[in-house]
Amino acid sequence: MTPTLSPRTAAVLRAVIDRMVPEDEFPGGWEAGVGSFIEQILERDLAPLRSELEGALCALDLEAPGGFPALPIADQVALLTRLERTSSSPSWPVSPADFIARLAALCAQGYYADEGNGGNRGEMSWRSLGYRVLPKGATWPAEDPVVSPTIEPDALRARYDCVVIGAGAGGGVAAQVLAEAGMSVLLIERGEALSTEDLPLDQLRSERSITGYQTRTGAGRNEPRVVEGASGPEVVAAPDGRWSGNAFGVGGGTRVYGAQAWRFAPDDFRMATKYGVPLGSALADWPIGYDDLEPWYDRCEWEYGVSGDPAGVRSGGPRRRGYPMPPLPDTLGTTVLRRGAERLGLSTSAVPLLINSTPYNGRPACVRCGTCVGFACHAAAKTGTHNSAVPRALVTGRCDLLTSAQAERLVTDSEGAVVGVEVVVVEGTTWRRLTIAADRVVVAAGAIETARLLLNSGSPHEPTGIGNAHDLVGRHLQSHLYAGAIGFFADVVQDSRGPGPSIATNDHRHDNHGVVGGGMIADDFVPTPLNTWDLLARLGVIPRWGADAKRGIRELWSRMQMVFGPVQEVPTPDARVTVDPEVRDRFGIPVARLSGDIHPEDRRGAALLASRAAEWLDASGAERVIRLAAEDRPAGPSGGQHQAGTCRMGSLPENSVTDPWGRVWGHTNLLIADGSVHVTNGGVNPVLTIMALAYRNSTRFAEDIPPMPHATSARIRD
Ligand SMILES: Cc1cc2nc3c(=O)[nH]c(=O)nc-3n(C[C@H](O)[C@H](O)[C@H](O)COP(=O)(O)OP(=O)(O)OC[C@H]3O[C@@H](n4cnc5c(N)ncnc54)[C@H](O)[C@@H]3O)c2cc1C
Repeated sequence: MTPTLSPRTAAVLRAVIDRMVPEDEFPGGWEAGVGSFIEQILERDLAPLRSELEGALCALDLEAPGGFPALPIADQVALLTRLERTSSSPSWPVSPADFIARLAALCAQGYYADEGNGGNRGEMSWRSLGYRVLPKGATWPAEDPVVSPTIEPDALRARYDCVVIGAGAGGGVAAQVLAEAGMSVLLIERGEALSTEDLPLDQLRSERSITGYQTRTGAGRNEPRVVEGASGPEVVAAPDGRWSGNAFGVGGGTRVYGAQAWRFAPDDFRMATKYGVPLGSALADWPIGYDDLEPWYDRCEWEYGVSGDPAGVRSGGPRRRGYPMPPLPDTLGTTVLRRGAERLGLSTSAVPLLINSTPYNGRPACVRCGTCVGFACHAAAKTGTHNSAVPRALVTGRCDLLTSAQAERLVTDSEGAVVGVEVVVVEGTTWRRLTIAADRVVVAAGAIETARLLLNSGSPHEPTGIGNAHDLVGRHLQSHLYAGAIGFFADVVQDSRGPGPSIATNDHRHDNHGVVGGGMIADDFVPTPLNTWDLLARLGVIPRWGADAKRGIRELWSRMQMVFGPVQEVPTPDARVTVDPEVRDRFGIPVARLSGDIHPEDRRGAALLASRAAEWLDASGAERVIRLAAEDRPAGPSGGQHQAGTCRMGSLPENSVTDPWGRVWGHTNLLIADGSVHVTNGGVNPVLTIMALAYRNSTRFAEDIPPMPHATSARIRD
């Protein structure tokens, strides 16, 4: 099979693969190409493990008189089962249990991931489940019109009216608004401008894959963070979940996100007034209300394009009009869940999505593929700032886009005023530092990196970091715990028609007895077969390998529905980003250190959503329901893809980092335009709020540089 594994080792591997994914009505693992997959992955992602794996295969062979391949099949299974429970053995170079777990994962990856990775020949496992990427008869309609960098470092102007740091959700919108307002803008992005070819539908390396392999939109191994978890501080690298990544590159998170486009509810802006301030928390009201943001929600929905139907969103605020596009059509699961909701008296709505349900903004409608969340859209139907706000900025002719450029610190003058940005630009294998002068700066690097940047920008006037006079930069790190339930049905409820989220209830976002906040719950994106294997095995519904594992996924993939959603978190001052005093990234810049924990109220919120989701699935006819509560989550701060809150807005410099217009207190020319400014993060996905706030605050920032408002508790209105 392989030039590098000896014939004997290859024979052992083949036998193991066929025990882990045995032949039944469908071909076994070896015939499906799992062997070629393992060979490829050992070349590409797991090269350091090759000799360990070979050593373990030899040890396995020696366990059986006459060798492993010669054993009867039942004895091979019995031996693997025994080894799975053996944590160490003197004759083994690694823990036998770890070896079996590793091989089971590799067999699942080779059997259930896309054919492009060398296994799953002819997509045979997908056919056995009913999973498909494209619906029957559909084709990919168009290339996503991705922007390219427009400027090289040597061609930069001496000075810009404004430098925007980060081309993600907030930064993309800010660059558009400022360039359209007539300013010269430099948009700098640490990642690349990635095309759909750069981002293939690779089920092992998406931003929702469970494999831990390096993704194209992820940080490199030499860009670590320090995380203080249950077992003390640890240096971790992406894509370890504790690293808390979103996605780097033009578009930021929106390049690969799921595009759920919810508005926060009026009560989300006044959490302290509504619930009080729980002990140990820093729960607070926003300095603005829903009404202040409503016009900007509307602009984002119509200018960028949201499909949906606002009817049925119980806790939503008033809206001036509906959405520009109808919701995407129902899935098989929608009908089942709607029936259950009716039985319970729940109000439901479609899930609003920044995905075209009809042609919009010159891009086609969604083809309803089964690869949405975590992947770049190969139909150009999903809207991110890479195909909306950033191109709009560039078309003005006033915005330069510089990629592979990481802002290191903000530059200040002798008075402490921000006058530019120091940037590390990467050119091939080399890099150098540049200083770019600017009248104004917008920071939109995502909640963790924005805090890191401000903290790394100390000056004699603000020695602990810009905007950090009250030790608030980096505090209140929050995100969303996810909680819900999974239901198993007698009939098929999954038709592999994407995107997937189609029916939601907003009945549990507020006014839940004994809970601060709550959250929206909805059905999920079409699950990939590999992620399904992982989930079901982790829940103990199926074993990790063997005949029952294979049959289990085949029977359950199309008969299960997940209902879950984001829990509104209660922020605490101790959940925070600081910069590590010792650990540095590849450029020598101090890295982010994440510490603290979630608030106990969050676990209560998670338990509530899990119970409500379980009831909904039960009422919808599920034969078996498992709660996914996140209550037993290990200690450590919440961050990741919905990260927010580290530079909260407020009415007083003593309790906030920015004023109600997103400007850092004491710096009229410094705007923060990403999720960092969220005071609380709502009980829904945050991106539409990030974009609406960026639109509102950048518009004001572009008008002039008005003086800071007087410190007041009065709310500032548009
Ligand atoms: C797989 C996935 C699914 C998601 N699904 C949803 C969803 O359905 N709905 C929803 O509301 N949200 C979703 N999100 C989250 C959403 O994408 C984020 O909330 C949003 O993108 C955050 O916006 P932001 O402007 O704060 O930061 P980002 O979008 O992360 O943008 C920050 C940008 O700054 C760049 N950057 C960082 N540091 C520097 C530096 N020092 N110099 C220069 N550039 C820098 C980064 O590379 C990045 O491009 C999802 C995210 C992912 C990854």
